[in-house]
Amino acid sequence: MIEGYPEIARDVASLKRAPNLGDWAALRESFSWDDMWAELDTPGGLINMAHECIDRHANGANADKPAIIWQAADDHVETYTYGDFKRQSNKVANALKGLGIEKGERVFILSDRIPELYFSCFGILKIGAIMAPLFSAFGPEPIKERVARAEGSVIITTPKLLPKVNAIRSQLPSVRHVIVIAHREGATVAPEDIDYASIVDPASEEFEVERTGAEDWSVMHFTSGTTGLPKGAAHVHNAIVGHYATGKYALDLQPDDIYWCTADPGWVTGTSYGMFAPFSNGVTALIDEAGFAARRWYRLIQDHRVTVWYTAPTAIRLLMRSGESLPAQFDLSSLRFVGSVGEPLNPEAVVWGNRVFEQPILDNWWQTETGSIMCANYPSQPVRPGSMGRPFPGVHVTVVDDEGNELTEPAAEGALVVQPPWPSMFRTYWNDQERYDSRFKNGWYYTGDRAKRDEDGYIWFVGRDDDVINTAGHLVSPFEVESVLIEHPAVAEAGVIGKPDEVAMEVVKAFVTLNEGHSETPELMRELNRHCRDRLGPAVAPREIAVIDILPKTRSGKIMRRLLKARELGLPEGDTSTLEED
Ligand code: ATP
Ligand code: MG
Repeated sequence: MIEGYPEIARDVASLKRAPNLGDWAALRESFSWDDMWAELDTPGGLINMAHECIDRHANGANADKPAIIWQAADDHVETYTYGDFKRQSNKVANALKGLGIEKGERVFILSDRIPELYFSCFGILKIGAIMAPLFSAFGPEPIKERVARAEGSVIITTPKLLPKVNAIRSQLPSVRHVIVIAHREGATVAPEDIDYASIVDPASEEFEVERTGAEDWSVMHFTSGTTGLPKGAAHVHNAIVGHYATGKYALDLQPDDIYWCTADPGWVTGTSYGMFAPFSNGVTALIDEAGFAARRWYRLIQDHRVTVWYTAPTAIRLLMRSGESLPAQFDLSSLRFVGSVGEPLNPEAVVWGNRVFEQPILDNWWQTETGSIMCANYPSQPVRPGSMGRPFPGVHVTVVDDEGNELTEPAAEGALVVQPPWPSMFRTYWNDQERYDSRFKNGWYYTGDRAKRDEDGYIWFVGRDDDVINTAGHLVSPFEVESVLIEHPAVAEAGVIGKPDEVAMEVVKAFVTLNEGHSETPELMRELNRHCRDRLGPAVAPREIAVIDILPKTRSGKIMRRLLKARELGLPEGDTSTLEED
């Protein structure tokens, strides 16, 4: 809990729209997952994620409604309706069937964000195979490691990315086919590979979706690797109930929304909220092929009249760094909801958003394993900057002591846990059941994060288990120290670690990057030290502050504190497959 940030009131009557969740306490009382299930189309108790996301809309009034507005890197735009989406994913499903791919097999996708990536994902789900996306910037080793762990049968990729697959292909005996989406690059396909167009174009547009049940496998996602080796979290078709419900109540998706999730499908946010939540809610999703660029992003919001925008703290900090005169050049008035996930959102960023977008940025918390949002700030609720909001209705997420007893005293710190089960809960770590089992204890799922809960039920992230610092008996949240550091106008980003110390056990060490126009002078360092001591007190303020050029981050944009620590202490760096290299 970071002091100095007053609550931001939200007056429901003056919101641009009446939100789906008008009264959190009332919905929490009345919510049932069965009601959510009943809003989907589940004939005979069967459920298939692709049917809920595409066919049930394409078969009804939404057939001609755009599902995807795709902005290519070269800025041309392609639009696909729910009807197009059904036909295209049916063709992929038929093509995969034609190759003999069966229910339960793992089909990997390694592709930039092009429409065929989306058609393929849903084609895979339609045949009942397990869809396993990989981030396109992975090198050969991380690809090999993940495909091998899951014993993948197929890799769908593009000519540009194919050399990385070829480099490790001989070491992947489970892979029967490599399908190459060649037509967009005008490339030819080698005889040992399969040209996507050659099997998809002639395939039928009709397909009967596999009769999957709630507990049949659907999606496998590898975690971000922030704390160690990425784990393959596997989900089932029932997860769509969670995606649908959280899309509706946590992201407030409404039928005429133009929704933009900036995450890549290589990470769980890019599937759960880049595909499953928007499509199951039947809204139109903007997909940008290109990566982050402040001017481009503001332009896309303006040009497509984006209403609901879901992004991440690292992008928001970059936008903050690019100044406030840039967004002022664009018409961002279409925005009704701005959300953030992936890392703690610094209170300074919430307040900045309130100025620039005329609404606070709504932070929410979840993880690859939980599959969908567990804790959120809702449009109808006052925002406490620095808090990740309140539990999602239907989910019991709370804070417990070492024995698993719920902490009732306000602001007591403990392990952040969720009471199982919930629809989108992961059902195993692929080929690592033991690790999976170890996460469930005392009737709780242990998230691996630590948090506090205040007297009104708002949850405040403290840190990951391994990141919380113990200095002279004080438990210090790296996030709190980082948040205070970035309040200073010279500081762009900060990463904070505990450094072993004989006397204090650990001392707080901060690494900061500076904004343009600032440099590391003795005066600045004195000022930063003073600022931290004033805001945090001498016990918590960093003992050391070092200026560095870039903070090590995962490719999904998370600060890798374990790497800062390993480098500081000269220890082995561990798994760096998800480290962003540029
Ligand atoms: P790995 O498990 O491989 O170390 P990871 O935990 O970063 O990687 P993800 O599942 O992508 O993999 O991320 C989930 C984690 O991200 C959460 O457990 C939490 O630590 C952090 N996180 C996500 N959203 C928030 C948030 N709003 N506030 C604070 N932390 C968040
Ligand atoms: Mg994790």
